[in-house]
Amino acid sequence: MKRILVVEDEVDLALGLRANLEVDGYEVDVVHSGEEGISAARACRPDLILLDVMLPGIDGFEVLRRIRQDGIDVPVLLLTARDEEVDKVRGFRAGADDYVTKPFGLMELLLRVQALLRRTGDHPGATEPLRVAGIVLDPEARAVSRNGAPVSLTPRAFDLLAALMRGGGKVVTRHDLLRDVWGYSADVTTRTVDAHVAELRRKLEDDPAAPRLITTVWKIGYRLTE
Ligand code: CA
Repeated sequence: MKRILVVEDEVDLALGLRANLEVDGYEVDVVHSGEEGISAARACRPDLILLDVMLPGIDGFEVLRRIRQDGIDVPVLLLTARDEEVDKVRGFRAGADDYVTKPFGLMELLLRVQALLRRTGDHPGATEPLRVAGIVLDPEARAVSRNGAPVSLTPRAFDLLAALMRGGGKVVTRHDLLRDVWGYSADVTTRTVDAHVAELRRKLEDDPAAPRLITTVWKIGYRLTE
């Protein structure tokens, strides 16, 4: 089982990450400060570190610098605040492998975690392509095909399709889709979900007006079935 260390001072976010990563089959350690992050990286030998940049005391960059100095070379995914372009550059210089910008969707985060673990080897299965009804979604290449023909999707539509495919034929609520694909953000509504579902239907359904693949469950959400 892969072990992930979460260094995040926002307690709700940290616990949400823990819950979702555990559902995905990871073992998760959570700490809330840079100092604890450094000790935990040394002590618990994580396979990947989710590292918030803005931490009280020692910030994420300094944590990153010190653990790299210690020779800990596991992948580090930085959690940055919105539009901190400078931080991204600093992050990569300090030795980060990837970053996500808050607020992020869980689906995006989970796919990136999987991709990083895959890139560093021995993690079969996690980024295997998803297949339903002639649709193949490759999380690592971020590519989709339907009956062998490539389908071009916007990044959001891609994450939305991944979330529906991972639903395994069960209904996925609009609320879950908002949380997993868009993250906790005030500026999106369930109408945003509906608009992106319409895009998926246009690209994937034989008859978008009479969808058979992505069906609406009235007042609740959507289901993707064979
Ligand atoms: Ca923070």
